[in-house]
Amino acid sequence: TLEVDTSQELSVGELLERANRDRTPNFDEPVLIGGDIALWSEADRNADPCTSSGCLWLKYTDGNVYIPYYIANHYCKQEIIVRGLQSFSTVSCIRFRPYQNGDHEWLSIESRNGCYSHVGRVGGGQTVSLSRQGCLYHITVQHELLHALGFNHEHTNLFRSNLKLCISPLFSLGMEYNFYKINTLNQGTPYDYNSVMQYERYAFSKNNLPTMEPIPNSNVSFGKATQMSQNDTDRLNRLYKCCKCNKLYTIISILFSLYSRWCD
Ligand SMILES: [Zn+2]
Repeated sequence: TLEVDTSQELSVGELLERANRDRTPNFDEPVLIGGDIALWSEADRNADPCTSSGCLWLKYTDGNVYIPYYIANHYCKQEIIVRGLQSFSTVSCIRFRPYQNGDHEWLSIESRNGCYSHVGRVGGGQTVSLSRQGCLYHITVQHELLHALGFNHEHTNLFRSNLKLCISPLFSLGMEYNFYKINTLNQGTPYDYNSVMQYERYAFSKNNLPTMEPIPNSNVSFGKATQMSQNDTDRLNRLYKCCKCNKLYTIISILFSLYSRWCD
């Protein structure tokens, strides 16, 4: 079976579309929107699952966000997944750590049918599917983990005024919901063509014509990220209020708790 190949030239959107093409989900698997976003039912298609509160992972008193993960043992090579998980700790306060007994919420990373994740924390053990057939790339691992952390696709950004959606026959083929505008939690950062959450020019095209073109210069390259962009990590740090001054934060918390006790 194809576990890791060398499709270096494919963008994240192309890799995801290739892996999820002709997907036949099992009865216990979710429906997908936008190519790889898991929903419990078709009825949730119009809802933005992460703007209502409660989808963020919890922060601990040391300023870090610890997210337990479990990697199913059917992978021959877990390194690419582990590398993706660890890449977050060097740029943010997100700390993925192995599942331990007693954890109530965790990411269950499994090779199911396709690459997909829910948006944000949904409770219990939530599946992040990274199929051995086509999902084991650094960029697809980062992409699915950003979904699990609460982020949507960049091209569905409410403020995408610099992106023209080409009205083509695909919109009559029921593909338009892949482009619905939603709150992508961009945290005040500008629209980012280099986001790992941005699909490329021909995403979801049924006729080999572009579905998206940048404005004003339609020749600008986009959707070709090879890893999380600066904006991706800025958004992550702002959404989770990661602070470079974690030690100071800890000292202040301790002083505050001593002060509260002393005042009682
Ligand atoms: Zn996605």
